[in-house]
Order: sequence, then structure tokens, then C-alpha cells
Amino acid sequence: MTTWSTIVIRCPKCDTTFTGTTIGSCGYAGKDTDFYPQYWGANPLPHFVKVCPSCNYADYPSKFKQGTPGQDVPKEEGLPCWRRYELVAETHRQQSASAFNLAQTLHRAAWGARAVDGDEPKEVEFLGQARELFQQALSEDGVPTEPDDLRPIITYLVGELYRRTGDASAAIEWFAKVPPMLNGDEKLDWLSKLVESQTTLAQESQKEKPSKE
Ligand SMILES: [Zn+2]
Repeated sequence: MTTWSTIVIRCPKCDTTFTGTTIGSCGYAGKDTDFYPQYWGANPLPHFVKVCPSCNYADYPSKFKQGTPGQDVPKEEGLPCWRRYELVAETHRQQSASAFNLAQTLHRAAWGARAVDGDEPKEVEFLGQARELFQQALSEDGVPTEPDDLRPIITYLVGELYRRTGDASAAIEWFAKVPPMLNGDEKLDWLSKLVESQTTLAQESQKEKPSKE
């Protein structure tokens, strides 16, 4: 169950005070194959980030100052969930955030488009942007290796995002990179199973394509 309350915060950029929703608790039943948590009840995803209604400055709630409640305090605007995360990515880009950080934020924009807004074109657009940035992060050693080495997981994810955006052959290529990275680590059995099932799906979608004359 998702529980929430109202907070009053102040924009660090333009000093506007506004009210927003903050999440007390939430839970999920399972995950999509690109790790989106399938939340129970109301979807908390839009409320994990805050957007200033005056200047569109957007970030995680901890980056805002505490505001003083009062009359006529504006509310956060009803932006689409994907737009909220896109604005956060813009803030972080201006702060020279890493490719990995931007990839994660834009991946959440895609989740918002899928699970909150039901906007498939936007979902595909952001999955593509996130995939490019995850690839960049892998190529410049920007994927965390401590405390856990995330490189096999992110390599799988690049494949899965290719599959979800309609490039089955690139997906299969990326999935094939994962097993040699696992070194028989039993803790990552779940990942090798996921690689197998998603490779099969990608191969099946290739067969469904009409062959070229
Ligand atoms: Zn502002």
C-alpha cells in the first residue's frame, strides 16, 4: 500500500514556496524485465521527484528547502510523470551528472510513461535515451562496481532496452555478453535465467518478422 502526506517546500533556485506530495511507504509485487517495480495501489513514481511550479526546477525532495505553510501556496503542477523525470535529468545535466546517473533518471521517465501516463511513444523515446547513456557509462567505466559489480546487470539491461525498442538483433548481441561476465556466481543465477528467457523472446520476435524478398 502506498501512503503519502503533503509537504511544503521551497525552490532552491527561485525561492517559490509550494506544496507537494511525499511518499511515506510503498511496496511492489514484482518487477518488469527492465526492473520497473510493479507497485501496489497508487503509483508513487511521480512523487519521488519534485518540480517547482514557478520555474520548473526539478530534483529529488532532499534538494529542496523546507517551506512555511501559508495561504495561497501553489501546488505542484499536474505534469506527466515522464516530464517530471525529464526535468530532473535536465537539472542533473546542468550539474554535469554522470552518464550512469542520467541513464537511471531517463529510465524512470520511461517507466513513468509506461506505468503512470500510458504514453507508449514517450516510453520508447526514453528507453532509447536511457539505453544510449547506459552504453556510454559502460564504455567509459562509469558503472558502479562497489559494493556490487553492476556491469553484468547493466549489460543485460542494454540488451533488454534494445529489445523493448524493437532491435532484436542488437538485443541478442548484448544478452550474449552477459554469461561470460558471471563467472558462475550463484548470486546472479536470476540474471542468467533472465538473459535466457529474454534471448528466447528476442529470437521469437525475429522469426515473426516478414522475411525480405
Ligand atoms: Zn523555482
